[in-house]
Amino acid sequence: MKEFGLFINNDWRQTHTTFESINPATEEAIATLASAEIEDVDRAVMAARTAFDSGVWSCMPAGERGRMLRRVADMLRDRAEEFAVAETLDTGKPIFESRNVDIPIAIDSIDYYASLVVDIVGKSIPVSDTALDYTVREPLGVVAAVIPWNFPLVLAFRKLAPALAAGNTVVVKPASVAPLTTMMLGDLFKESGLPDGVVNIITGSGSKVGNALLNHPAVDKLSFTGSTEVGRNVIAASMKNISTCALELGGKSPAVVLPDANLDAAADGILFGAFLNQGECCCAATRVLVDKSIHKDLVARIAERMKGIIVGNGLDEDVRMGPLISAQHREDVINYIEVGKSEAGKPVVGGGIPENQHRGYFVEPTLFDNVPPGSRIYREEIFGPVLTVTPFDGVDKLIEAANDTPYGLAASIWTGDAANGQRLARRIRAGTVWVNVHNFVFNQAPYGGYKQSGIGRELGREGLEAYSEVKNVITWLGQEAFKWY
Ligand code: NAP
Ligand code: MG
Repeated sequence: MKEFGLFINNDWRQTHTTFESINPATEEAIATLASAEIEDVDRAVMAARTAFDSGVWSCMPAGERGRMLRRVADMLRDRAEEFAVAETLDTGKPIFESRNVDIPIAIDSIDYYASLVVDIVGKSIPVSDTALDYTVREPLGVVAAVIPWNFPLVLAFRKLAPALAAGNTVVVKPASVAPLTTMMLGDLFKESGLPDGVVNIITGSGSKVGNALLNHPAVDKLSFTGSTEVGRNVIAASMKNISTCALELGGKSPAVVLPDANLDAAADGILFGAFLNQGECCCAATRVLVDKSIHKDLVARIAERMKGIIVGNGLDEDVRMGPLISAQHREDVINYIEVGKSEAGKPVVGGGIPENQHRGYFVEPTLFDNVPPGSRIYREEIFGPVLTVTPFDGVDKLIEAANDTPYGLAASIWTGDAANGQRLARRIRAGTVWVNVHNFVFNQAPYGGYKQSGIGRELGREGLEAYSEVKNVITWLGQEAFKWY
């Protein structure tokens, strides 16, 4: 059993009350975590505030700040297997994914933003010959980062890497059900030589600790990834303190399949889109919208492939789908499956808890066909391994259906006509549109949601700029002093 206190000002701090994190494959506790009190939240924020105001990080020469971040990346690379195993133990995801998706993407994001540190530049604006006008990009100050449990390390660094690169200091709060790898970063940051207070990591419930952090008046930016429901609280907190707010929220992303698509490739790609990380993926392909001329052929291909997905303990090398994150979440997903049976009839594949799994929060990969567009399983985010298929007649109806959702995080289009794919990509209201692929996210490219899927962009240059303010400096150049009265 690992034990973690709160990581504040490069030091570990114990608390009176603790809680445990569970391995969702075995239901056994794997780590003890500290429940922060409101005073601890204040301590963490003030440590970050003091570090920021001292300039120890924000005024560090850019090259040196970049080197420090690269050191963090190198240390994580050296300990990649340890972090991969911990991520699988804590979230249940297959070790195959922790090793090949989570840890490498987290490391790559640090490398990427470390490389941009030396290229944070302003511009000069030719306003008149009696004034010099230029901009500088400055860090925002203290960032509060609240992250979810589905890709803990990846999403922690999706905020930490650009925030630190831009010169901010940070307080991170991981989700209580999967805090392990984020807490493991405490020692890593300390060993990397990061100055005191630059990164602080605190644990405890969202409703108490997360809420206190987001509402703290000394915080300058709120960066949140999680549910749309909690996202509204984040906006309320930002309204109170007029702090900058960035939200990455839920989704109900469609995969639109046209008659000219390569159906085998589409079926393979949709499986990856729908079932990566047990479907606990904000941009998961959850609604297949297919032209009715190829509907049956596509469903047959998807169903056949789904039966080959090996479900089990994520530490098993052959497993490609682990358990859901918690007993509560499994209950929610099973409830959706029951709702789905009443809305769309018997599932084509799956539809319950696997027979051979007596421990752990497992759910069968489940496929519903001919799902009515008004139904709950078609409209609501399930966040589990549940895929729906709905046929439509022609491309206009397909695109209309893709846009008929309050969400707008992502979508994919499957077609043999590349140019048509590009044209249709422009007609879908979503932050990411993939053509002939789903769930590819690159650290170098912006990611985020339209509509109720969020506000702002993470990753790419946009993700770095989101952690800075623009200052405009204007200097009088006239030969005579400026005189008005
Ligand atoms: P969640 O309940 O919103 O929790 C996310 C984080 O917020 C956790 O750290 C949680 O802490 C904290 N939190 C909960 N209530 C809070 C409050 N009142 N004030 C401040 N913080 C609070 O979401 P989740 O169940 O972890 O994750 C699933 C959702 O996240 C899905 O809707 C999914 O689409 C979305 N998501 C979106 C993206 C994206 O990039 N757009 C990525 C991943 C997930 P505790 O859990 O410790 O209470
Ligand atoms: Mg856990």
